[in-house]
Amino acid sequence: MGIIDISRNNATVADAVLVIHGGAGTILEENLTSEREALCHSGLRAALERGYGLWQAGADALSIVEATVRVLEDDPIFNAGRGAVLNDQGVAELDASIMRGVDRMAGAITGVTTIKNPITLARAVLEKTPFVFLSGVGAEELAATLEEIEIVGQDYFFTDERWKQLQAQRVSNSVSLSEDNKFGTVGAVARCKGNHLAAATSTGGMTNKRHGRIGDSPVIGAGTWAEDATCAVSATGHGEFFLRAAVAHEIAARMRHAKEGVAVAANTVIHEELVAMGGSGGVIALAANGEAALPFNTAGMYRGVIAADGTIATAIYGKP
Ligand code: ASP
Repeated sequence: MGIIDISRNNATVADAVLVIHGGAGTILEENLTSEREALCHSGLRAALERGYGLWQAGADALSIVEATVRVLEDDPIFNAGRGAVLNDQGVAELDASIMRGVDRMAGAITGVTTIKNPITLARAVLEKTPFVFLSGVGAEELAATLEEIEIVGQDYFFTDERWKQLQAQRVSNSVSLSEDNKFGTVGAVARCKGNHLAAATSTGGMTNKRHGRIGDSPVIGAGTWAEDATCAVSATGHGEFFLRAAVAHEIAARMRHAKEGVAVAANTVIHEELVAMGGSGGVIALAANGEAALPFNTAGMYRGVIAADGTIATAIYGKP
């Protein structure tokens, strides 16, 4: 086994099979206790190990990213599933999307409030309906007909920490990504043994967001993209900018049309295009040959990667 260095904010990795993120933002060493750091690293590692086990067993890329994201959704430290941030009404309103690279099939849901694992419902939209994107009541009604979907009450998602963050945002009357959303959105990109790609993203969005607000995470082409010929991408950051820049698709388009490699394409979009617009955040991007890029233009991004030989790396902060 080798050593993977993902300490920089523009890292690239060879021979990756699974790359994950747990959100980007103003994540500063002085603001994080060592216990919190340890919880983040162990949460990321648990997700990587789950996905890698499936990869070893020969699972398809869609199953790998779904199972990986479920682990992160179940971990209250991240802003997805349990522990998701709360909107302006104090409600966890969840978004998720998933895409398969081999045929560009996709599924997404937005504004659901009772789905334990939103990524599994997004996958059901992909596999079990002729649609790509379902919202609110319609998505929840579909969920009620599906055996694999667990329905929970709002109390399942609620944590004291998110409540405190919402109160702080209400006092300052702001919607925050950078200061408060330190434990963010989750995502995974993977390739299976046949070198097909998939991507998945799941989130509670931004603390104190207006109810009904939709960010980039559930939008195919903005927060999530997968296409075997180019790359799989999952994004995290200030969603309004990621929507306007069509970030995930933009990276794939640069690869297809400008013949850029995944690292150049992802770094250019995050460190140049987004910065020029004033947008903050990052992505994980993976090409079918195993080349991965993990750029972010914020102080930190919870992130991790596992290579084909089982070498694992997780990181929080970023050196320029
Ligand atoms: N992109 C997410 C959103 O805007 C937030 C995040 O990535 O933390 O909803």
